[in-house]
Amino acid sequence: MARIFSGVKPTGHLTLGNYLGAVRRWVEVDQHRAEALFSVVDLHALTVEHDPARVRRLSRQAATLLLAAGLDPERCTLFAQSHVDEHARLSYVLECTATDGELRRMIQYKEKGARARAAGESVRLSLLTYPVLMAADILAYRTDEVPVGEDQTQHVELARDLAVRFNQRYGQTFTVPRATRPAVAARVMDLQDPMSKMGKSHESGAGIVYLLDEADVVRRKVMRAVTDSGREVSYDREGSPGVANLLDILAACSGGNPEELAGVYESYGSLKRDAAEAVVELLRPVRERHAELAADPGYVDEVLREGAARARAVARPVVDQAYRAIGL
Ligand code: ADP
Repeated sequence: MARIFSGVKPTGHLTLGNYLGAVRRWVEVDQHRAEALFSVVDLHALTVEHDPARVRRLSRQAATLLLAAGLDPERCTLFAQSHVDEHARLSYVLECTATDGELRRMIQYKEKGARARAAGESVRLSLLTYPVLMAADILAYRTDEVPVGEDQTQHVELARDLAVRFNQRYGQTFTVPRATRPAVAARVMDLQDPMSKMGKSHESGAGIVYLLDEADVVRRKVMRAVTDSGREVSYDREGSPGVANLLDILAACSGGNPEELAGVYESYGSLKRDAAEAVVELLRPVRERHAELAADPGYVDEVLREGAARARAVARPVVDQAYRAIGL
């Protein structure tokens, strides 16, 4: 059976982008067809300015939301990255396999580094090296497939390169993973700034739909989405990115095809209304289940404890083998 690994960073509240780009597939497809491991990758939340209490709170919230969205601990392994030492252990060894040049080329490093510098903050070394930690997250489990949104393609490529390089130099140790993406909405854009992706750690929340937003808040955000001054509804990601984004979101929620949906709508207003209602309905059960689960934190802790034990049992022999192979 294929093995799958993926994760979310607890750097903010989970968004519709996280859900459509990744989490929904984990729930509906991946946990049913493969040996699947999903992680709240909390070490990755420390690469930018952070507040310790907030990271702790958001980690628990992310785990609770993943369960609320439908991850089933009987079918998959859900754990916090920092509970499994093998990630950090392997990351160091992989740093000795990667070069600084290939890390400096990473788009997310360039973007986030520039943002931090512009805000007068220093750039943490971990912002440069975190793609190596992500490679360790993936390779420690001899992962075959990594279901992610489009923004993670470059990082999974790095994991592949490091696996191939390590295997060539030190002997067959890692499986070479591949990224898988959803057919629609692999890159959900910010509703206020449709040239940027909807990212949970962006400062402005007006263009971001959070999974825990109340129905009225979702409606308001979608109805105020930036479109353009045209009138005709057409699917053109370059020329009309705001409208294309709404069509992608509606298609992903309703199981349709964005190009075909474009032909159905006469005005932006009706498209927005239908997209808003589709998102509200999609998120309603997740929000309701989250409220139930949040009332029972002991359950979430127990799931994470068991998940970490299972994850450790898979990763430890792989990382031990990597240490031996590299000469330790
Ligand atoms: P974020 O950028 O919101 O901090 P993470 O790095 O935690 O997201 O990513 C969790 C998963 O969600 C990844 O698989 C990522 O590719 C996916 N994802 C994040 N943002 C989007 C988006 N706007 N559209 C589609 N998928 C996304």
